[in-house]
Amino acid sequence: MKSEYDIIIAGGGIAGLVTAASAAKHAKQNLRILVIDRNSRQEMGKKTANGWVCGDAVSKNSLDFLETHVGVHYGEPEVEKEVHGVVAFSPDHTSKAMFDGEGYVLNRRLLPKRQLADAEKLGIEFTFDASAEALIAKEGFVTGVKCRSSKDNQTFEKTARLVIDATGSASRLRTGLPIKSYIEKEIDKENDMESTGRYILSFEVGKEDKTFFDPNYCIIHLDQKIAPGGYAWVFPKGQNKVNIGLGVQRRLLENRNRLFGRHDTLQSLIDDYVKSNPVIKNWKLAEGPEDEGNTKGNWQVPVRRQNDCLVANGYMIVGDAAWMPRPIDAGGIGPAIYASTIAGSVAAGAIESNDVSEHGLWKFNSEYVRTYGHRMASFEILRRFLQTLSNDDLNYGMKRFLGQDDVESITRREHPEFRRVSFSPSKIIWALPRLALARGLRYTATKSRKLIQQYTNYPESPEGFSEWHDRFIVELKEAYARLS
Ligand SMILES: Cc1cc2nc3c(=O)[nH]c(=O)nc-3n(C[C@H](O)[C@H](O)[C@H](O)COP(=O)(O)OP(=O)(O)OC[C@H]3O[C@@H](n4cnc5c(N)ncnc54)[C@H](O)[C@@H]3O)c2cc1C
Repeated sequence: MKSEYDIIIAGGGIAGLVTAASAAKHAKQNLRILVIDRNSRQEMGKKTANGWVCGDAVSKNSLDFLETHVGVHYGEPEVEKEVHGVVAFSPDHTSKAMFDGEGYVLNRRLLPKRQLADAEKLGIEFTFDASAEALIAKEGFVTGVKCRSSKDNQTFEKTARLVIDATGSASRLRTGLPIKSYIEKEIDKENDMESTGRYILSFEVGKEDKTFFDPNYCIIHLDQKIAPGGYAWVFPKGQNKVNIGLGVQRRLLENRNRLFGRHDTLQSLIDDYVKSNPVIKNWKLAEGPEDEGNTKGNWQVPVRRQNDCLVANGYMIVGDAAWMPRPIDAGGIGPAIYASTIAGSVAAGAIESNDVSEHGLWKFNSEYVRTYGHRMASFEILRRFLQTLSNDDLNYGMKRFLGQDDVESITRREHPEFRRVSFSPSKIIWALPRLALARGLRYTATKSRKLIQQYTNYPESPEGFSEWHDRFIVELKEAYARLS
């Protein structure tokens, strides 16, 4: 039976819209591409009823990659603020580390409008107000989606040669995948999902203190009291406008509440964090039309490595639906841009060569892993280790063990080696007071090297996957056991 579309993309967030644009740009002839989103045209890309919930920060490298490979340049108004970098502070604010280089703070409400206009110029079609509820499959291939209209509650079906799932972290398509594949369907919600939330505020400047607000830098506060198992952030959107929020691991928050007889929730922690900031005074929810319906909201972010396999017969996953955000900082816009650019190009090639099988789409796995994804398992281990540390450990570790070369590695998105952690006679003086911390850092550095090496040997075709994955999981589980 002939399909209605070449490609259907479910979910019109950043991942879905970059994938659509990349497929259209890379295709040698016109493809019929349909994007299905549950939002109305006016609210494209809205993640939840609470808005386009995000910290909004993205690195310059990511937008440069998009410009080079898809030919799209974002500027005002979807880019709200340029920043010189991202700085992480220790809990006592005495140590800081440059966590990322130059970047931007986006307006996530306006960005999809720009993407939608660009996409329509490329001939991409849209179905708004429709939820993709389930995948349709025939003879071992995904062949379409069952949808439900939010306008009249009617169900309908759309068919395509290839379906790309970009429906975000709560993807129902992936969990209900009806064909045999290597794609993992479920995430470990307790360990690998972070609860996060934020405000977008305008404010008057109280005290001058660049460890709490800096109009030129995105600030991250590492602090297990403020954000157990996560971190808090103050990202500038202007001289008097800010995106401020935090993320926690629910299990660690519950443990902490039990231990200290507290009843903190994600929202109460966010409110306390805003109140405790000495720079942000007389604040109110941002009021411009560009922020309407988007000033307060919570949502979830996956913080493990990406799904170890991203393709099946007639089906691909990308963005949060594929658990792509970086495990140490939950940054998902950058990985979504890299992955969606590659996904679109591979999808166009697969349609043109008439092979949308797992084999025909496998290049998405191998290219994404080579370009970006190979480091994510190592960051997953670093994240698990950091979650075991106390504030005292974080203060000591950032002061004594984090060298300039480590900071540069983190900025380059590489795993730090922690060379200052040494058990040699001249340096043991720094390691002795925090021996467990020193050993843990050495362990994660060594383990990370192994995981990166294994991911670098990612198989070039599905035939090698099972053997590769079995070996990789043994290595990973050994680290889980050590860090639990
Ligand atoms: C509080 C918070 C702060 C964050 N801060 C940052 C940050 O500062 N920097 C950064 O890089 N990342 C950050 N992230 C992560 C980042 O927001 C995500 O990684 C990114 O938005 C993922 O894009 P996506 O397109 O994959 O998914 P989404 O943005 O979730 O888009 C999914 C789209 O699909 C639609 N959809 C969902 N289900 C269906 C369905 N069944 N049918 C049809 N449509 C559907 C949704 O309505 C939405 O339009 C943050 C996340 C949160 C929650």
